Amino acid sequence: MRDLLVETIEAEGHDPEIDERGNVLATRGVPAPDEPHLVLNTHIDTVPPHVGYELEGDIVRGRGACDAKGPLAALLDAFCSATVSTGRLTLAITPDEETAQLGGAYLGDTLDADGYIVGEPTGLDVCIGALGSFGGEITIRGVSAHASNPADGINAVRAVGPLLDALDRYDEQCGPGGHELLGEPTLAPTRIEGGGPLNQVPAECTVSFDRRTVPPETIEGFLDGLESHLAQWLPADYSFEVGAAYPDSPHPDAFTTDPDACLVKTLAEASGGELRAFGAATEASYFAPNGPTVVFGPGVLADDEGPVAHSEREYVTRSEVAAAAGAVRKTIEQLLWWCPHSDLCVPPTCVPTLRAMLLWTSFGLNMLPVLISGMVENQLMPTEHNKILQYAPQ
Ligand SMILES: [Zn+2]
Repeated sequence: MRDLLVETIEAEGHDPEIDERGNVLATRGVPAPDEPHLVLNTHIDTVPPHVGYELEGDIVRGRGACDAKGPLAALLDAFCSATVSTGRLTLAITPDEETAQLGGAYLGDTLDADGYIVGEPTGLDVCIGALGSFGGEITIRGVSAHASNPADGINAVRAVGPLLDALDRYDEQCGPGGHELLGEPTLAPTRIEGGGPLNQVPAECTVSFDRRTVPPETIEGFLDGLESHLAQWLPADYSFEVGAAYPDSPHPDAFTTDPDACLVKTLAEASGGELRAFGAATEASYFAPNGPTVVFGPGVLADDEGPVAHSEREYVTRSEVAAAAGAVRKTIEQLLWWCPHSDLCVPPTCVPTLRAMLLWTSFGLNMLPVLISGMVENQLMPTEHNKILQYAPQ
């Protein structure tokens, strides 16, 4: 898939690179510290199992159709076809969003920009927030003994009862409370492992859990809070430790973006979509600390019949892919047009833009070609990248 992506970008006359984490990066425009930088991001990986490509009229079915090849086709089309009059546009595509997310976390650390559009299936709505996500585990330690004399040991499995009660009470007693956009945080125990031979009192038991966070709680803050909460609730005979189930992976914190940010308003106007939260964890969380970040794309996570993304019936419509491409293209052209200010801002609300217009008037004819190229309807790539949608991983 990555080869096809790189070949497609090259065929459009750009010069893609692959960074040390396997991200594909391509840039348009010239880096300049005072000019705006907009990033388009999504991912090339999909969840298993493979579901074959099928085209039925406007509907494309198959694994990844909406998560996230449809969004990728839209962003790629917008990247290649938009007129970039000033500033810089970067396409940054990650390889492991569905698993370790090392690519997204690395981009968050290395790709500084004034705005980020993250392609995921939102049905053309502009999503300005998402829950954070953390998989953790609590290891309880007791003392082993012969099971015929259970009183000689400290049975780690017996601590699971009070531990589950403590998890149930966590949010009521220590949680951040509900968030107006993202709702309530959740904490769900999802796996229990422990014990060995049936004639031995078990010394160790591990309860794993899934935490979905809402601001202002960070995953780090949650872990500290959970540790002191459990210390109060677990019987004193036991020792325990709380840690990450996947310590080598980054953990996306919850994020929200100001609904009044120019990027949000511009994209919402261009797409006609609503502002809302995204219903799944996303790599957008790694970009949001750097600047306004939105999740946007064709397709849906679920429809009236049930789950769509990650399900056997995954699909996207070509018309929605094209509409998403058009909305992103329009957004790029508005944001990377004439504002010389590093915030992404839209005329005529932006004071620096008005200042720039006055400045340009004094430059007169020199600036005319730039203005014209920004205004001309772009005809480079009227269709979406269908090959991307058809690609079947081996
Ligand atoms: Zn996705």
